Amino acid sequence: MQKRGQALIFLFIGLVAVAACLVYYFNYYQPSHPKNPSNSGNSSDSSNPQNSSSNSTIQNLTISDKYINVTQLHWNHMPLTYKILNESLCTGIPIDELNNAMKLIESSSNNTIKFVKNNISADITISCYDLDDVLNKSTVICKNFSVEWKKNAFNAKKENYIPNSSFVLSETQIVRNDTLTTYQACYVDSNLANGALDESKIITEGNIITNATMNIYVFGDDYTRCSDFPNKEVHQLLHTLGLDHSEEPRFHNVFGWGVINFRYEEDVMFQYFSCIHQKDIQLKYDECLQYIYTNGLQGQCAKVNFIK
Ligand SMILES: [Zn+2]
Repeated sequence: MQKRGQALIFLFIGLVAVAACLVYYFNYYQPSHPKNPSNSGNSSDSSNPQNSSSNSTIQNLTISDKYINVTQLHWNHMPLTYKILNESLCTGIPIDELNNAMKLIESSSNNTIKFVKNNISADITISCYDLDDVLNKSTVICKNFSVEWKKNAFNAKKENYIPNSSFVLSETQIVRNDTLTTYQACYVDSNLANGALDESKIITEGNIITNATMNIYVFGDDYTRCSDFPNKEVHQLLHTLGLDHSEEPRFHNVFGWGVINFRYEEDVMFQYFSCIHQKDIQLKYDECLQYIYTNGLQGQCAKVNFIK
């Protein structure tokens, strides 16, 4: 009887020891555990220095990630800092519109997103350009395209009449007769403008955004602004947060987008700008930004596209 009791005690002690070892292993020796950042990677990773360094960068970013529950593309911290290059050129309306767009995004995220200016070290680098000046230094190409007479809608880029990298200055109907309608499209090749005509860009490590660039422009003849909603600035800032363009409806050969559904054109992340239709940040973006920057506590990211 006594022996049986002793055996049970040894068995109990043995089980406690095994449990303690398991707890210790999972807490301190799991390679990916944040508590042990120096123990990064496994043997196959360390055989490839590039992999190892990239993995450890991702691991470091993940360790400091305030939004660890979120799988979607996101920044790992708040507030986001930004600096403006060539700022004096954009003083006035362009910077007012940028500030307005930032405030709209902050409030639509329920103030979980915050933009703070920091000219020394910045997450987002915003470059100011005089658009007229950029275009004057570029080669403007104007081409005429004759289409079926009944065609009412024309989108040269969408319909592959001009390259996808084109920065479109104007599209106008110049002739219409019983057989043909002629449209003129004027554009420049954005690939030749040293980034001055590019959309916002992000740099990522895994699902974390580490850097972003964006352009703003001096109000000029070639840059139209919407009077009641800064749709272009909001659109570009949402790109810096990792959001991609919204779904496109099929472009109707005769009637364009509108006949299919205005909802597509109302989306601030629609690829083509429209002052008439784009008046607000849609609820799906409000909810998605809140989801990400509350670390998944509220909201959702349904029907939102992320940059791949
Ligand atoms: Zn865009």
